[in-house]
Amino acid sequence: MKHARYSASGSKRWINCPASLKAEEDYADKFPTEENTSIYALEGTACHELLERVFDEESTLGVPADANNYLGEIITVEGTDFTVNDEMVDSVNSFVKYVKDIYTPDTSKVAYASEMRVSFDDIADGGFGTCDFFLYDGVTNAVHVIDLKYGRGVKEDATANSQLSLYAWGIWRYIKENKPEMADISKFVLHIVQPRIDNYSRYEISAKDMLRFSQHIKSAVAKTQDKKAPRFAGEHCRFCKAKSDCWTYKNSIESMTMMSFGAVPDANAIDVPKLSDEEKVALLDNIDKIKELEKCYRDHLFNRLRGGDTIKGVKMITSKKNKKWNDTAIPLLVSKYGNDVLKEPVLVLRPVSEVKRIVGDDVEEYRHIPKGMPVLALDSEPGEPMDTTQDLGFKKLN
Ligand code: SF4
Repeated sequence: MKHARYSASGSKRWINCPASLKAEEDYADKFPTEENTSIYALEGTACHELLERVFDEESTLGVPADANNYLGEIITVEGTDFTVNDEMVDSVNSFVKYVKDIYTPDTSKVAYASEMRVSFDDIADGGFGTCDFFLYDGVTNAVHVIDLKYGRGVKEDATANSQLSLYAWGIWRYIKENKPEMADISKFVLHIVQPRIDNYSRYEISAKDMLRFSQHIKSAVAKTQDKKAPRFAGEHCRFCKAKSDCWTYKNSIESMTMMSFGAVPDANAIDVPKLSDEEKVALLDNIDKIKELEKCYRDHLFNRLRGGDTIKGVKMITSKKNKKWNDTAIPLLVSKYGNDVLKEPVLVLRPVSEVKRIVGDDVEEYRHIPKGMPVLALDSEPGEPMDTTQDLGFKKLN
């Protein structure tokens, strides 16, 4: 899939950290980020694919489409299969219901499109994105931009949301060029629908403020093109491809953690104060940031090792797995010892200790240790290094 340099989904990053676009160039597709490649990201894409199918099936907004029609179907995203499950169906149906609730039932004054590619390259070179749903309401002269977020990790907010504002700008531009009779828009309404955490966020922006926003984008784009563009760390670093090598990001986490302790007292003083509850809470607040930093370095080093690099101090080992019953254990044990070995009413085996009591000690022939996954470890940690020149069962990176 082709990604725009000035993408709507990455806009928070290039607006807030002008140097990030240049910094990310070195990483291009070599080290894919979680934003596009994690199983959660792919699952989100599958859910959007379902949304598209549901809207394709629907002929008018008055005829409800039901995602239940697709329950159990397989949607393949970049080689990974996802089965449409209840959670996906509920999310898409919630989105459809949300759209219907804001729609004015005067079909002569309504226009809409789902999964529409919108271009905003008049304010950001080559900029485009895909808008989940837009709705033009001719009764209130409003354009609604509605975005489905399938993730549950981060609560998304529509307030002054640059991604949705760029979609809105692109839609306005499209309307001006193709439907000038509809172009007298008085307001844009940005919506985020995040059904899995019951988050529905809405923000209105006037046409005048949308024009101001377009100027803000032009100046943000100009800053990214400055050779001396500065780096600024923040929430937007989360999916930056350059973060594993970025001092600004590392320093920001370090100083946040230091700040959470406040002034460090002289630990040798006689009346050293106890660590306060506030200090403990503040530190807990920052632990997620430190974990994010750890994950960033682990992922980066892991990707390098699996790409065939040798890095002093780390190795790839096989993760430890607990013993499991063999696939044939149930029929073999039931035929020899009867249904007592099963957990009622579910047809699975009882815990090992209980099965041992029923059949005697010798159950190991029915069990095996599953093959572990390759994981990163420090050289000082136990575990034989894997031979990374062998086929490890995953795609080699360039
Ligand atoms: S990690 Fe953060 S500070 Fe560093 S380049 Fe990326 S966005 Fe900028």
